Amino acid sequence: MKRYLYLFLLIIGFCAYSVPALSWGQKGHRIIAKIAYDNLHRKARKQVDRLLGKQGMIYWANWADEIKSDTIYPTSYDWHFQDFEGGMSDSAVVAALTDYPKEGGNLFRALDSLTALKEKDVHTLRFIVHLAGDRYCPMHTAHLSDRGGNDVKMRWFREDTRLHTVWDTHLIESQGYSFSEYARKLETEYAAEKKGIEQMSEAELLLHNYHFTEDIYTYQATWDGNTYHYIYRWRQPMELQLYVAGIRLAKLLNEIYK
Ligand SMILES: [Zn+2]
Repeated sequence: MKRYLYLFLLIIGFCAYSVPALSWGQKGHRIIAKIAYDNLHRKARKQVDRLLGKQGMIYWANWADEIKSDTIYPTSYDWHFQDFEGGMSDSAVVAALTDYPKEGGNLFRALDSLTALKEKDVHTLRFIVHLAGDRYCPMHTAHLSDRGGNDVKMRWFREDTRLHTVWDTHLIESQGYSFSEYARKLETEYAAEKKGIEQMSEAELLLHNYHFTEDIYTYQATWDGNTYHYIYRWRQPMELQLYVAGIRLAKLLNEIYK
């Protein structure tokens, strides 16, 4: 079964494109994995536990980021994002789901290809758990021209940082919850949204994420530089996005192991 994964890696290696990015950050991915784990069907949970260990998908959720510089998967660094540009038409954005762009990352291609593998080994599943979270991270469908917000400098309280890092880490950390506290909070607050999120198509969710990201860029241009104001504006939409990522990861795994 490893053969399939290596073949896939070889193919995707030719499409590699370099942009440094870390994705939701460690806590974000654990929150997403915890929400997903709590929403797995019995059969899916059994299979996931068998491959990754009991609750292992939470503890392996960041593995795909950690091995980016390792030589075992040298081409995986651009699987974590799919950049776009501002002002695109909805149809052009949605087209990226099937007609994978040549530039700006390989997130959609990688996730689709890994999901389609007939036999999924431990590493395949760890990648899926992680990349399914990145898919809904706003700065992972951000602008190619600024490397997904990595070139947008900003201040976060007294620290110099980048727009990308704010969305990976700072906004989540600003709330001071552990990953399990955060997951529980979101599962309670958004329980009524769960069915609707499960029923949305990938195209609808991508468009939502794209316009969400565009709103972040628009806000950036007029932001007064006050970190609290930034948190007031974006905490809730960010939290909903984490919940969406968790529910959609559960849906994907439930479909894989039905
Ligand atoms: Zn990532």
